[in-house]
Parts: sequence; C-alpha cells; structure tokens
Amino acid sequence: MIEHATDEDAARSARRASLRVLIDRAQDGLNAAEQTALRRHVHDEQHDADMQSAVASDCRVESQALRQRLEQAESATERVRALHRKASHGDTCVYCAHDQRLGYDTTWPCDTIRALDGTLLIADD
Ligand SMILES: [Zn+2]
Repeated sequence: MIEHATDEDAARSARRASLRVLIDRAQDGLNAAEQTALRRHVHDEQHDADMQSAVASDCRVESQALRQRLEQAESATERVRALHRKASHGDTCVYCAHDQRLGYDTTWPCDTIRALDGTLLIADD
C-alpha cells in the first residue's frame, strides 16, 4: 500500500514537472493573461488533487476503524448467541433456563435473542 502510494507520488511529480515544461513551451502562443490563467488553473487543479488525496487517506483510516468496530460488535453478538441457544430438547433457552432449574423456564426465543433479532419491543424510559 505504501509502496503503491510512493509509485503514485512519483508519477504525479513527473506529470507535474512535464506540465510545467509544456506550459513554458506554450507561452509563445499565449498572451500574458492566458499564460496567467493557465498557470493558475494548473495550480488549482493540483491543489484540488492534493486535497482529494488527503480526504481519501482520511476515509481509508476511518473505514479501517469502522471495520474493526464492526468486527468487534459481530464477535460480541456471536458470544451472546452462543450463550443463549435453544435447548436440544424442549422449547427453552439453555442460558436463561439455568440448566432447567425450576422457576427459570423460559420460552425460545428468549428476550435476549429477541432483542438481538429486533423482535422484542422495549419501551423507552
Ligand atoms: Zn436466553
């Protein structure tokens, strides 16, 4: 990735150097106002490209951070689902039923799984 960016930077530098040479050679055919406008436009385009490159770099960093947070959230959900699973016999949640102790029966899916699935209505305080 860094090596790729270095290659792009080298290509950009070479292209810009070539542009300056072309501008110098074009001066004979342009009046003073056109020469000034051409130089300003090229400069502004290069500035815009630099800004877009910086924005893209920031987006890559932010995307990587968001991807990491997504993976952490998915892992947390998987851990909760591994705890709250349907009993192999009966219609209870293994975790919520506390090994089928009396008074801890719960129907499947339990509230935790329904909350994860988005099917449990939770009133706002
Ligand atoms: Zn449960």
